[in-house]
Amino acid sequence: MNTSDIMQLSDKYVMHTYGRIAMAPVRGEGTLLWDAEGRAYLDFVAGIAVNCLGHCHPAVVRAIQEQAARLMHVSNLYYIEPQARLAEILVENSCADRAFFCNSGAEANEGAIKLARKWAKKQHGPDRYEIITAENSFHGRTLAAITATGQPKYQKYFEPLPPGFKYVPFNDLDALAGAVGPHTCAIMLEPVQGESGVRPAAAEYLSGVRELCDRNGLLLIFDEVQCGLGRTGKFLAYQHYGVEPDIFTLAKALGGGFPIGALLAKEQVAGAFAPGDHASTFGGNPLACAAGLAAMQTIVNGGVLENCNRVGAYFKEKLHELAGKYSFIREVRGMGLMLGMELAMPGGDIVNRCRERGLLINCANNTVLRIVPPLIITNADVDRALEIIDGVLREQQA
Ligand SMILES: *Cc1c(COP(=O)(O)O)cnc(C)c1O
Repeated sequence: MNTSDIMQLSDKYVMHTYGRIAMAPVRGEGTLLWDAEGRAYLDFVAGIAVNCLGHCHPAVVRAIQEQAARLMHVSNLYYIEPQARLAEILVENSCADRAFFCNSGAEANEGAIKLARKWAKKQHGPDRYEIITAENSFHGRTLAAITATGQPKYQKYFEPLPPGFKYVPFNDLDALAGAVGPHTCAIMLEPVQGESGVRPAAAEYLSGVRELCDRNGLLLIFDEVQCGLGRTGKFLAYQHYGVEPDIFTLAKALGGGFPIGALLAKEQVAGAFAPGDHASTFGGNPLACAAGLAAMQTIVNGGVLENCNRVGAYFKEKLHELAGKYSFIREVRGMGLMLGMELAMPGGDIVNRCRERGLLINCANNTVLRIVPPLIITNADVDRALEIIDGVLREQQA
């Protein structure tokens, strides 16, 4: 099928929940994607921070092929070796003691919300259920996750929303302290906000939030679905801050392109869940966990974090140079290879013109060019991308 055939078929039969771009990728390898006409693109969207090792990384492909031929699915009624091994690598590289597996970021956050509520009810009594989140946060699309998401545009038309959520401005410790009340059980934040346009938490803010939680017996939940798993140059974004959460959630990059999510917690908190409290038919199945294990082993052992730091620093420096050249660039933000460039105008046009020249980037929150490439890119890939971005921005200037 050519692009036009695929578009027609999709527009006829698939629900219109996505504002889609007129392009149909059919093959990928490393940092490159090819569309149905065989045109190649440098992919600096990477499935929105999913394809952490690029497309079809050989270690992930091999793990999926071998596991698919041996055992794809078995119920969580039984013990599952790849699940136990994936839990081990996540726990041994983080502050958590235990993992629960699901299939997406929204589901991971649902699980985190349930765990926080159950823990708080056992710990403090029946009136402790409220979760405070940040304005402009993003936590997913299930009912509880859109409610946790501090952006009315995701909630409109889906009311009534589950009660027990409150919102405060991000990076404002006084506002957060003022919002804590007798019903509060947890604070949930992204260490680096993704969908709202790559906004890192301030260091004093996160350490202040930790102290606030400790003083009030609250749980601190970090949503690391986008910023976690090497994206910022450390295995988990919170590790830049020296602040440990009680619970954190993962998804996007966890399967190296295969769908899987996870919720991790410290022992004392994880212990609030008893058998029967939470479950998932597919969550943690052998195939997804084999993919995740291969991806995580590669990130932890394969020099990927070092590459992300080195290339990310180079990239950011070059974006700052662009900001010096073009007055409509308001700010360059981000850590590692989670980078954002805020413009004085909407960025959709620039994204389209980059794509026409063979570079995929994305626009978050209307005005922020978001760059979340595979963590395995080289300085030469960055140079190619910058040449395209610079060319498009030069036209914009003219
Ligand atoms: C993408 C994202 C989610 C939702 O993940 P899904 O897999 O789409 O459910 C949640 N939180 C953050 C920070 C995200 O970036």
